[in-house]
Amino acid sequence: MKFDTSMKAGTFVTFPGGALAGQGRIEFAAPCANGWLVIADRTPVHPVSFRWPDQPADLGQIAFADGVVVEIADAWTGLIDAGAGVLLIGEEAKAVRKGEGAWQGVVVHIVQSDRDLGAYIGEEARFTVEPRRRKALSVPHTAAHLAALALNAASVPFWTKDFADLDSLGRPNLDKAAIENSSIEPAVSTDVYRLGKSLKKKGFDRDGFLNNLETVGVEINGMICRWLETNTLVSLTPSEGLLDGIRQWRCNLDGTEAIIPCGGTHVERLSEIGDVKITLAPSEDGFVMTTHAREA
Ligand SMILES: [Zn+2]
Repeated sequence: MKFDTSMKAGTFVTFPGGALAGQGRIEFAAPCANGWLVIADRTPVHPVSFRWPDQPADLGQIAFADGVVVEIADAWTGLIDAGAGVLLIGEEAKAVRKGEGAWQGVVVHIVQSDRDLGAYIGEEARFTVEPRRRKALSVPHTAAHLAALALNAASVPFWTKDFADLDSLGRPNLDKAAIENSSIEPAVSTDVYRLGKSLKKKGFDRDGFLNNLETVGVEINGMICRWLETNTLVSLTPSEGLLDGIRQWRCNLDGTEAIIPCGGTHVERLSEIGDVKITLAPSEDGFVMTTHAREA
């Protein structure tokens, strides 16, 4: 979808810091097959990314000043060309290459309503996020980051050469080098890894690793269990800013600050996570790591 708008900038988002509500000025509203597309200058709602759609969108409500309340059924990332006001959503946004042009990300709320929401353009509204779903997605997302760091640590013995790209805890970053896709659902995260020829050339003993998946899994579970016994703070910095801004997940593990670039949402403390159970399974060209994580 492509629209001409008068929007001048990407959306300012407050979800990284954990916000569940906030005011925003409606800047765009248009009907589409899925309902209404609504964009505000500011929102606490986390949208699904079209570039790395691992964490699904928040759900919630928009309350307008006249008392009308509408449900947010989904939230997508769109692109605005702030100079020309051109808005791209869906396939048109996906077709834009990263770094191409002066596109900025916007949060497109998908709203079901029989009313003409275009009447609210220019007005302030209150956005609220459904907290249980946010938490149910944040718990496995934080657990998946712990699992990635533990995977890197447990796979150290399988590197036969020095690998230059280390994670923030100083281990060869197998997670970053091999991840093919991730998906997060309430209480579970699934990470698909590909162990290709280039990793083998870089010194990763693919066969040795795959023959020891069970032992690696036990080690990962043990490490995560130990980390969860602490009440460590988890933060995303900066805690608010433009949707496109680079944000970092931070958590102090074993005395070192672990840092992972991240566009999603997280718990505030590791103690909010209850049981975590990781399973590793071989796949056609690598392996799949499944992280089951429940709220404490
Ligand atoms: Zn993340």
